[in-house]
Amino acid sequence: MKTYLSEIFSSVQGEGPYVGERHLFVRFCGCHRACEFCDTVVDRTETVLVEKVPGSGQFEHVPNPLSIGQLVELIREVDHKKNNRQISFTGGAPLLQAGYLAELLPILKGDGHSIYLETAGDLPQQLKSIIEWVDIVAMDVKLSSVTKEKNTFPEHWEFLKICRDRNVEVFTKLVLSAETDEEEFMQAVKGIKNAGGEDTLVVIQPMTKAAKTNAVPAGEQLLRWQEMAGHLMPNVRIIPQTHKMLEML
Ligand code: SF4
Repeated sequence: MKTYLSEIFSSVQGEGPYVGERHLFVRFCGCHRACEFCDTVVDRTETVLVEKVPGSGQFEHVPNPLSIGQLVELIREVDHKKNNRQISFTGGAPLLQAGYLAELLPILKGDGHSIYLETAGDLPQQLKSIIEWVDIVAMDVKLSSVTKEKNTFPEHWEFLKICRDRNVEVFTKLVLSAETDEEEFMQAVKGIKNAGGEDTLVVIQPMTKAAKTNAVPAGEQLLRWQEMAGHLMPNVRIIPQTHKMLEML
């Protein structure tokens, strides 16, 4: 089995509650969504960029697609100093490659890694097929007023429920822009509470300026949304994309 990847590198986690932790990132090509704020290249690429010396900006081009054996070897090379306990799968949409992950993850767990899945949070069946090997799920809840796409709340709630039922650590992340519809936002917070329970962490991630939109939310909006959500959920944090501030991968 082979798949298309865009990047493999070691850096600090820039988003959510694990910000600052060292992660080895594996970025998949391909995504089934088209969020307006997306600045990630999701098209299939001829080669995967592998940064073997972290932070060096020097990339080796390895031809796509990659077999599971090739990817495991590259991960072992990038992690030769063994300082990346967490392997972060990101994209694109890693769950579009659930079959590939089902073969890969047990090998990485065998190497002592912990699996961190960054996901759009809307493919519950694919999640079910690999959840036994996943340690942490960083799950987006997408608002149509921000993505400019149809929202998929039923899939999000089924997805969140699977994580909770299987006792897998999960937190929710809502990217919010200046155009966030407050009614839709509160509908999302209620949905998170119903599906995941009151103790689910809600991360408000202020949208970063992107190619197609610069509707970055104002501080006043962010604080108001935190207060509004805080009436329903005790743990609501505002965490920006810190790696972009540092101009790191
Ligand atoms: S789900 Fe992520 S990768 Fe896909 S379009 Fe949205 S922001 Fe981009």
